[in-house]
Amino acid sequence: MQPLSVLIVASEVAPFAKTGGLADVSAALARYLAGAGHDVKILMPLYRRVREKVGGLTPHPELQDLKLGDDQGARHVSVSTAPLPGGAGPEVYFLRAPELYDREGIYCQDGDEHLRFGVLSEAAMVICQNLGWAPDVIHANDWHTGLLPLQLKVHFGWDDLFKQTKTVLTLHNMGYQGVFPLDVMGDLRLGGEHHLLWREDVEEERVNFLRTGLLYADALTTVSPTYAKEIQTEEQGMGLEDLLKERGDDLIGIVNGVDYAEWDPRTDEHIKANFGPRELAGKRVCKDALLDRFGLAPAGDDVPVLGVVSRLTPQKGFELLPDMLTVLLQREDLRLVLLGSGEESYEQYFSWLQETFPRHVGFFAGYDEALSHQIEAGSDLFLMPSRYEPCGLNQMYSLRYGTAPIVRRTGGLADTVEEYDPATGEGTGFLFDEFTSHALFDATRKALRVFKEPAHRARLRANGMARDTSWEVQGPRYVELYARLAGRASVPSS
Ligand code: ADP
Repeated sequence: MQPLSVLIVASEVAPFAKTGGLADVSAALARYLAGAGHDVKILMPLYRRVREKVGGLTPHPELQDLKLGDDQGARHVSVSTAPLPGGAGPEVYFLRAPELYDREGIYCQDGDEHLRFGVLSEAAMVICQNLGWAPDVIHANDWHTGLLPLQLKVHFGWDDLFKQTKTVLTLHNMGYQGVFPLDVMGDLRLGGEHHLLWREDVEEERVNFLRTGLLYADALTTVSPTYAKEIQTEEQGMGLEDLLKERGDDLIGIVNGVDYAEWDPRTDEHIKANFGPRELAGKRVCKDALLDRFGLAPAGDDVPVLGVVSRLTPQKGFELLPDMLTVLLQREDLRLVLLGSGEESYEQYFSWLQETFPRHVGFFAGYDEALSHQIEAGSDLFLMPSRYEPCGLNQMYSLRYGTAPIVRRTGGLADTVEEYDPATGEGTGFLFDEFTSHALFDATRKALRVFKEPAHRARLRANGMARDTSWEVQGPRYVELYARLAGRASVPSS
C-alpha cells in the first residue's frame, strides 16, 4: 500500500505537554505511523513550557508569519519544529502564537480558551496550504480540535488541496466537551454558521466544540470498543448519546497501545532494577525500594503492595475507597502506595489515610513521572475503580510490570483485563461491576486471597506480562481506518 499522509492535531503530545492519556497516545501513534513508513506530522501549540524546556526548536522556513483569516483582524502565527524523541520520530510542528500559548498551564480558565484551540485547528489547514501538502487524513483529538472538521468545510472547502482529505475525530474523554457561549463563534469567523451547529445548542446560545466535531468528522473513534458502546447510552453519553447513536456506523473503538519504549520493565530507566517475565528478581528489588521510599514496613512476598497512579478526579472512582479501605487495612496485611494530584478532597483523604496508617500507606500528592514507573514496578496489585474509563493506560502498564490490576468492568478496563480464574489459571486481574464500595471490597479481597498463593501469584504475573498491547498491535487498526477513508487497499491487521 502506498504510504498514507496523516496530520495529527492535539493539545497534548508527550513528552512536551501532558496531563493525561491523550498525550501518550498522540505521540505513540505518530511514532508507530512514522515507523511503518507513513508520512506523518503532529501539530500542537508552542506552550510556554515547550519554549522553555525543549531544545533544538527550529523555525520552519516555509511557515513563518502565516496569516489566519481575512485581512480585517487577521492573526499571524508561525511554526517551529522539533523531532519527536524516540526511534523514527516524526516532526512535531509547534504553533507559535505567544498571545495564546505563552502561559503558565496547558489549559486555562481565561476567557479566550475557545480561541487558543480554535486557532490551533484552523492553523492545521493553513500549514498544509503553505506546505502544499495534502494529507489523506487530518486526525483531530477531543474537544480542543472539535471544530476542525467544520472549519475545513467552511473556510477551506474551496481549496482543491483538501479535495481528498478526510477527518477523524478521536474521543479520549467525553467528560470535557468545550462548551462556550455561542458568540465566541464570531472570534473564529464562524459567526454566520449557526445553522451548521446542533440546533439545541444554538437555541440555548452555546456551542459545544466536541459535538460539532461529532457532526462533521468523517470518522469517529474512541479508545476502546466497550467505551464506544457505552457512550451511545444515556448513562455514559454525557448528553451526546443521541448524536453518537446516529453516527454509530462511523464510530469504532480502538484500544490505545502502550509505548513499550517508555514502559518496559526490562529497559525502564526510572526503576531500581530491571526485570522481565523470565527474570523477576528485579521486581522484588523494586518493591523494597518503593516501601523504603515511603518509609513503609517491610513486606514479604505474600504481603502485597497495592498501587495507585491517577489524576484525582471523580471519574477515577476514589470515592469508593473510604468505605472499604479502613476495614481492609485493619483486617489485612498489605501496603498501599498512592500517587496523584487533583481535587483537594481526595488529596486530603489520602493524606489523612497516610497519617493514620503511617507504616502501611504512602501518598505523594503531585505529578511525578519517575515515581509512576516505580509504583508500577514495585506494586503487586494495582487499583483502578473508575466510574468510567475510556481506555486507561495504567492497567496496561500494570500488566506489563507484573502488577495485577483490580478494575471496574467499564470502558477500556473491561477490554484489557480478564478475570483471573484460580481453577484454570487463566486471566490477568480482578474485575467488579457495581459502582459500590462493597463490590470493590469483594474484588480486592479475592485478589488478596489469590495473591497469597505462590503458584497463583506466579501465574497471574506471567499471564499479564505475556499480553501484548503495543502499538504494533493497535497501530494497524488506525492504518486500516485511514486507508478505508482514503479509498486505499487496506493492510491486513496483525
Ligand atoms: P487519564 O488519561 O484519564 O488520566 P490514563 O490511565 O489513560 O488516564 O492515563 C494516565 C496517564 O497519566 C498515565 O500515563 C499515568 O501514568 C499518568 N499519570 C496520571 N497521574 C499521574 C501522576 N500524578 N504522576 C505521574 N503520572 C501520572
